[in-house]
Amino acid sequence: MSSGSTPFDSILIVDDDPLVCAIAQAAFDKIGVQQVETAADGRQALEYLTSNPHTAFILCDLNMPNMDGLQFLRHLGDRKYAGEIGIVSGEDAAIINSARLMASKYGLNIRGTVAKPLDVEKIHSLIDKGLSEASAVTPGTSPGFSRNDLVFALVNRDIKPVFQPKICTRNGELFGAEALARWTHPDLGSIPPASFIPFAEQEGLIDAVTGAIVRETLGALAKWSPLHPSMKMAVNLSGDVLTNVELPELMLSLCRECAVDPAQVVLEVTESRIINDSALPIEILARLRMNRFELSVDDFGTGYSNIDRLREFPFTELKIDQGFVRDAAQDAFAEKCVRASADLGRALGLRLVAEGVETADEYDYMRSLDIDLIQGHYFSKPLAFDLFTEKYFQSRAEVA
Ligand code: C2E
Ligand code: CA
Ligand code: CA
Repeated sequence: MSSGSTPFDSILIVDDDPLVCAIAQAAFDKIGVQQVETAADGRQALEYLTSNPHTAFILCDLNMPNMDGLQFLRHLGDRKYAGEIGIVSGEDAAIINSARLMASKYGLNIRGTVAKPLDVEKIHSLIDKGLSEASAVTPGTSPGFSRNDLVFALVNRDIKPVFQPKICTRNGELFGAEALARWTHPDLGSIPPASFIPFAEQEGLIDAVTGAIVRETLGALAKWSPLHPSMKMAVNLSGDVLTNVELPELMLSLCRECAVDPAQVVLEVTESRIINDSALPIEILARLRMNRFELSVDDFGTGYSNIDRLREFPFTELKIDQGFVRDAAQDAFAEKCVRASADLGRALGLRLVAEGVETADEYDYMRSLDIDLIQGHYFSKPLAFDLFTEKYFQSRAEVA
């Protein structure tokens, strides 16, 4: 753990077991959290939160007297609690997973779950999760920027992609990269996509954001391609973009403009974002595929009707959701999901990608399942164009 660094300045521990509270308190003290309070059940915790509504993080047990963790989470949802939550429990994995799902449906930010018995290390790794991606703006809180800021950022080209490599498990070589949007704001610093993409969708600016990312990404591909002619670059398409009938023509003209082959471009689509009862996204994705763009089903295993989606859309790649990848080692259900997703994808002739691979164990496990590509911090975090060039194409001089 990165001792001495913490994204939270105030923490509430909710657990009826004094030993658990003491262990958690010690773990938070060690990383220098200023304010740590404890509550023995949900009721006490709600009382505390009434006078301290800006508590940044709550570590919450599920099985407690008076008001249990599930009721407590429901109340937090009603209060629109905007901080993050860690669930700690001695219950079995299926119950903890249900609690996590329920909390997400209440709109709560769940940082992760920890199984009892608790120790300091487990708490540190929970707090560490996503720290590397920490930034001035936290998803789920009010954005702190306006529509005009976003328009200005687009005009000023402050929204740019960073690139995360996808590596072949067969030979350890670079297969391609995924472009992930970042907004560099003059006052707020780096704003993650989870904060501004939903805002762009809401403000009707998602086509412009997507256009900016695609243009930069194809520009990068045009520079890297001469050094790696089979390289593929992926961009993310939100469901809203898939209602724009002009998308295929737009993508084709951008490819022409940048002189790149559409077959080198992978469009990642998150199934749950596709509007359910409309034929338009099917037409748009089919036309893109007819024009040789590759289509990837992102976050496979989350959302619903996964298998239906695979039947409706001409996908060429399946990305196993990082939640399953991360949990597969400890949780038999997640392990079965990864295995079943891999079998299904392979049977359908799709290229398989495991996303969010952070450790050597996770990497070895994915290799043992014959997953084709690995993406995750184990190999590299997303990198700006220059750093990616340096890391994968040695000297900048090689790239025009
Ligand atoms: P995604 O498409 O599932 O992208 C993967 C996310 O996981 C990225 O977060 C990436 O930085 C992160 N990640 C990759 N490997 C690891 C790992 O080993 N550990 C951990 N903890 N995280 C890892 P990011 O960049 O914050 O993007 C979040 C989401 O925002 C993306 O999820 C995607 O759905 C959306 N997004 C990003 N760029 C765009 C864009 O240009 N357009 C649209 N519509 N959505 C975008
Ligand atoms: Ca993606
Ligand atoms: Ca994903």
